[in-house]
Amino acid sequence: MIKVGVVGYGTIGKRIADAVALQDDMRVVGVVKMTPDYEAKIAAARGFPVYTAADRVEKFKKAGIEVAGTVEDLVKASDVVVDASPEDVGRENKEKYYRQLDKRYIFQGGEEADVAEVSFNALANYDEARGKRYIRVVSCNTTGITRVLSALLLNGIGIRKARIFIARRGADPKEHKKGPINDVVPNPTAVPSHHGPDVQTVLKDVDIVTMAVAVPVTIMHMHMAYIELDGPRSRDEVLEAFAKTPRIFLADVGSGFQSLAQFIEYARDLGRPRGDFPEVAVFRDSVTVRGDELYLMYGVHQESIVVPENVDAIRAALGVLPKWQSIEKTDKSLKLFT
Ligand code: NAD
Repeated sequence: MIKVGVVGYGTIGKRIADAVALQDDMRVVGVVKMTPDYEAKIAAARGFPVYTAADRVEKFKKAGIEVAGTVEDLVKASDVVVDASPEDVGRENKEKYYRQLDKRYIFQGGEEADVAEVSFNALANYDEARGKRYIRVVSCNTTGITRVLSALLLNGIGIRKARIFIARRGADPKEHKKGPINDVVPNPTAVPSHHGPDVQTVLKDVDIVTMAVAVPVTIMHMHMAYIELDGPRSRDEVLEAFAKTPRIFLADVGSGFQSLAQFIEYARDLGRPRGDFPEVAVFRDSVTVRGDELYLMYGVHQESIVVPENVDAIRAALGVLPKWQSIEKTDKSLKLFT
């Protein structure tokens, strides 16, 4: 059993903890919370031992939440630590807690790439991460793009260049202070946005440029992609590549999928935890091939898309399972469409 500690129990961390708890080769040894709020109570109610910083233990006790120990204690008790703390805090935690203990550490996409030895996406470069001490799972948008491009590459369809246009959700559903609420904001104004270079941390040879705007939406990101293939291809070839690739869901307008909201509604109707949609949601009808030009649109559920990647990153870090076995095991446990 791999002992996993989750440092940072927010949007991403709590989903990772739940996903780890579903694996038969892993166990959550504890989660780190910094505030004794409702999330901390839920963590405890789910049976996850709650750890916090040494100077916060009293606060938790006052709030009636039992503390299992400090961050240092959790790191010591873990084989692998998944850091899902806010942007840039992962790097601080590395200096403060991780360097001195010989464990495996997984960071998230809010950290700069050089926080880790390797950036990670299971389809793209699982083997490169095997046995590495520090691994960084790339961000939600980068994961979405990387899956789409990997689906083509893994099925023998070469890519001359990719140009991806991103409508980013303005905030996560719980983020009451973020926006925009009535605007479309270049995010960033510069071209390329950071997503293109970030994809190149896992797919090194891809010629990619990305542009992004933030929109007043909380449910998902939407990507519009223009991809130049290595030569003329048929639409069927491309659709087959997507259909054969795990973690990609092909959605039909005829089945009622006309917008991003319907993916979330589908997940809720399926009774998926938190209404999550960890697959890349490709609008099949948008997939258009003209000679060597491929066009498509797809949705990326920012809160959950990186969760299966983190589970695989844990196995890659310890080198316990080959790539496809890990992907299959993860997807089966999370009941993903494969
Ligand atoms: P979040 O704010 O929802 O959660 C972060 C949690 O860490 C909070 O519970 C916070 O209390 C806790 N925390 C604060 N300081 C801490 C510290 N010093 N040590 C440990 N924990 C601490 O953030 P999030 O959205 O879950 O993002 C976490 C990481 O995942 C970031 O790197 C982010 O860029 C990345 N990410 C986020 C999304 C997304 O859409 N939310 C998607 C993909 C990747």
